[in-house]
Amino acid sequence: MRRKLVVGNWKMHGSQELLRTLLTGLQANAAQGDFADAAVCPPAVYLAEAATLLADSAISLGAQNLSQHEQGAYTGEVSGSMLAELGCRYVIVGHSERRELFAETDELVADKFIAAQRAGLTPILCVGESLAQREAGQTLDFVAQQLNAVIAKAGIEAFSGAVLAYEPIWAIGTGMTASPEQAQEVHQHLRQVVAQHSAAVAAELQMLYGGSVNAANAAQLFAQQDIDGALVGGASLKLDDFSVICRAAQSSI
Ligand code: PEP
Repeated sequence: MRRKLVVGNWKMHGSQELLRTLLTGLQANAAQGDFADAAVCPPAVYLAEAATLLADSAISLGAQNLSQHEQGAYTGEVSGSMLAELGCRYVIVGHSERRELFAETDELVADKFIAAQRAGLTPILCVGESLAQREAGQTLDFVAQQLNAVIAKAGIEAFSGAVLAYEPIWAIGTGMTASPEQAQEVHQHLRQVVAQHSAAVAAELQMLYGGSVNAANAAQLFAQQDIDGALVGGASLKLDDFSVICRAAQSSI
């Protein structure tokens, strides 16, 4: 039985005030004992304070990005070991915004995935198609290609310590959620792709759906067989909404 996981991706939003308010509130809500496993990924500058605020809480910490390098003359970059030292458990790799806006290729994403694991972090690997690709009927092939690029470089066994997130680009930040059936179709396909390499790894792999998940649609998504939680953007900045999503994940088990 796979556990459910809800991860909040704050992107480049927030402030110290929001950090304190949200994390204090989330901890209080999680303490009621009805949350699924949950993690928050605030901007890198807030991670140290977030780690202090979340000490002894059930909520994990994650980062939104890392360097593929361990250390060196890479101005502005942050390494996996630095994130691990701060108390991060997860790191998002291959988010579509990084692929599109920062020209991250499949190869670089694979290198970051490997760098994350080298530092003892759990990578959350994001894959997802554009609207044009969906309309052209290329969704399943495209996400499989993105996934296989990382499997080819990292090896299938690496996925036993990873999380996969299906995030259709057309659903991110648009309010256009994939229907539960659309999301399940892709999740099932991705699990089959992993199973072609290792049935055991596929059976255990936690797969999150991301793309305009909110308090109203989360439960239906979590009811799908291959959806093991959510990667949440906008709604993760709202205490009540994110809490509802964390509870919906738990009650879907
Ligand atoms: C995301 O950024 O990963 C995301 C899913 O955003 P949103 O929930 O706002 O669509």
